[in-house]
Amino acid sequence: MKDFIKVLKRFLPPYQMDLGMMFLYNLLGALFGAVSFGVMVPVLNTIFGLNSEVVTEKLPFEFSAEVLKNNFYYYSNLLTEEYGAVVALIYVGAILLGVVFFKVLFTFLGSYHSVSIRNGVVRDMRQIIYNKIVSLPLPFFTEEKKGDIISRSTGDVQEVENSVMSSVDMIFKNPIIIVVYLFGMILMSAQLTLFVFLLLPIAGYIIGKVGKSLKKTSRAGQDKMGDILSTIEETLSGLRIIKAFNAEEKMNDRFGVQSNEYRRIMNSMMRRYVLAHPMSELMGTIVIIIILCYGGKLILEGSGNMSASAFIAYLGMFYSIINPAKHFSKAMYSVHKGLAAMDRIDQLLDVESSIVDKDNAKPVETFGESIEYKNVAFSYNGERNVLKNVNLEIPKGKTVALVGQSGSGKTTFVDLLPRFYDVNEGSINVDGVDIRDYKMKDLRNLMGNVNQESILFNDTIFNNIAFGVENATMEDVIAAAKIANAHDFISATENGYDTNIGDRGSKLSGGQRQRLSIARAVLKNPPIMILDEATSALDTESERLVQDALDKLMENRTSLVIAHRLSTVKNADLICVFHEGEIVERGKHDELIEKDGAYKKLYDMQLL
Ligand code: ADP
Repeated sequence: MKDFIKVLKRFLPPYQMDLGMMFLYNLLGALFGAVSFGVMVPVLNTIFGLNSEVVTEKLPFEFSAEVLKNNFYYYSNLLTEEYGAVVALIYVGAILLGVVFFKVLFTFLGSYHSVSIRNGVVRDMRQIIYNKIVSLPLPFFTEEKKGDIISRSTGDVQEVENSVMSSVDMIFKNPIIIVVYLFGMILMSAQLTLFVFLLLPIAGYIIGKVGKSLKKTSRAGQDKMGDILSTIEETLSGLRIIKAFNAEEKMNDRFGVQSNEYRRIMNSMMRRYVLAHPMSELMGTIVIIIILCYGGKLILEGSGNMSASAFIAYLGMFYSIINPAKHFSKAMYSVHKGLAAMDRIDQLLDVESSIVDKDNAKPVETFGESIEYKNVAFSYNGERNVLKNVNLEIPKGKTVALVGQSGSGKTTFVDLLPRFYDVNEGSINVDGVDIRDYKMKDLRNLMGNVNQESILFNDTIFNNIAFGVENATMEDVIAAAKIANAHDFISATENGYDTNIGDRGSKLSGGQRQRLSIARAVLKNPPIMILDEATSALDTESERLVQDALDKLMENRTSLVIAHRLSTVKNADLICVFHEGEIVERGKHDELIEKDGAYKKLYDMQLL
């Protein structure tokens, strides 16, 4: 329960207004509901011909139950005498209708506000999770599977939604109804109600007991769902390989095992879950029967101070308590499930960013002299050093080409500069200051990235180019696109710069995607460029356009290029040859060829 209140405290405060309104309307709804049962008594009396308490005297109006009841009887008697019982019934029926109308109206208004709360809380939660995902450093995502994160931000949020909602109802609606009706019942017969009071908690306790162990199983189910989503993710991105290796059946089997496991867990969980309803129905009926017997005895003995009609209305009122009480017990189950999901969401939200600004981080606006890697060592898993003993100074304005076999550490080397990862040993300095002392936002502002796989978003061409720049104008974007040799093909698309490029730019060719990401970097116009040249072959024309765009991009900038193209390598001011995490050779193209070492070997193997 404590955890549950904590969750409410976290997410409900922005919705105090809605909460207040919901409370008010539910209270009004419950009051009208209770009155509607009271109105039924004279109706029943008339039908049964039981008007024993003939009221002939009208009391002066006063807002008390006694007076209201008296006058109500007085008027219904009057009507019965003057127009006959049937007409009186119609009148009383009309009043009942009016009362019930207000009851449902207020109940609706209560739910109206609870809907705002429900959807608001879920929106807030999704936004918090999304913000967290975006803020987490890259190393996190290599450890945690993507499918698992997706499952946490969809399924678990959904789960919490259901539990938050039923719990909000539980707290602000059902108890109100229960209290108001109980109050009405006490007015009708204190003795009987005392009896009910003793009975209800016992029944409630027994029902509540059933769902204790639910929390554990539900978490297992969610975890398994994460695995399933991961497999689907993996399958979608690896479909080509699965087909090429005829591994369809293998994957089917693997998936089958997972989804079967999920089925097993869910079976066990849901069976327990569906037990709640029949259980509480059975308990409810037992309770009603007990009350019927006890109440009947009171009336037959004439000791309960209650007429038979009133007893029927009383039973009606009591029956109306059963449902909210049932929902109350059901909500208890949901809350358990929801809290398990909340735990999983919190595991994500509680991850501390390992790469953050220092308290006294320095601002930096311009890049002045040089970048310097000093004795840098780095490891992804703390066991094997992917980079070791790396030293390199890159003066402003120079182009450094990084070459070497795949897996030799080039990508890791450039990823350290914008602090996607932090070095384990040594330091990287920009203008003589350790990059960990700068404000990360400022540091990253100094750099532009063009990746091997152009990373584009499902948005318009304009927005993709303007991605890293606030308030870019159309002129700026067009100018950048022209430099990146992208303007012509953009103009040829249906809606020009407003064309949507599809999921990850799927509507464009490989070369076009590259030129868009180059345009994006051009527009940002950073002093330092980090380039990972695409290895995938383009046709000659496309290749020429991309190469030309890259050349223009590197002009007058300090560039770090993971180089696959011969022209880039040849024109570089410095070539660094990586081998197993170390720079084993460095120099200009001609020097290195002459040296006849690692570079020459690479060159001969035409790896470039
Ligand atoms: P290159 O860019 O030269 O191909 P990388 O820098 O990508 O080389 O990789 C260097 C080494 O680090 C490789 O052995 C690779 O398996 C490992 N590696 C790369 N990325 C990760 C990661 N996110 N987690 C763990 N190991 C990684």
